Amino acid sequence: MKLIFATHNRNKAFEIQKLLPEEFNILTLDDINIHDEIPENEQTIEGNSAFKAKFIFNKFELNCFADDTGLEIEELNGNPGVHSARYAGEEKNPDANMNLVLTELAGLENRNARFKTVITLILDGEQYIFEGIVNGRIIDEKRGANGFGYDPIFIPENEIRTFAEMDLTEKNKFSHRARALEKMIEFLTK
Ligand code: IMP
Repeated sequence: MKLIFATHNRNKAFEIQKLLPEEFNILTLDDINIHDEIPENEQTIEGNSAFKAKFIFNKFELNCFADDTGLEIEELNGNPGVHSARYAGEEKNPDANMNLVLTELAGLENRNARFKTVITLILDGEQYIFEGIVNGRIIDEKRGANGFGYDPIFIPENEIRTFAEMDLTEKNKFSHRARALEKMIEFLTK
């Protein structure tokens, strides 16, 4: 079965392909000749995820899925949340984003935060939602060089290392994305 993943990121698609039985053939947007970004203008992570999946389904009527992720910080009322990529500006600069978060949290005791991924799957016209969450906390400096985005300032619960201090294979075992993905794969293969 062909399944379009609403992303241009071939690595993400490859990771998922490896986890699925051979009958599933994961294609990216570039494989179906979409080279532009799909707009991400919704006000929630769920909204963006659903918008991207529906965008593909409405255009091509193909089975497809989309993901959207954000870092939700308790003391910042859930921000950066849906604005995670562009929190400090349109340049999508991870360092600037982290600096802004660290400044906003300076002196605050409650450092609780979570990463949330929402996957929207559209299969034979029906919509299904899978959520993956990792709880943790924001530290007051950047640590580690692996990963991307906010990884250097986030320590998942029951850990002493930031995501950026873990190697990718280790992070991917229990990341928010992996958890959402596991649920979708379980659904697709049951
Ligand atoms: P996306 O929906 O996967 O494009 O993620 C949106 C933004 O959330 C990214 O640009 C990053 O700033 C942040 N983000 C998503 N996943 C992670 C992660 O695993 N670690 C750190 N930051 C992430």
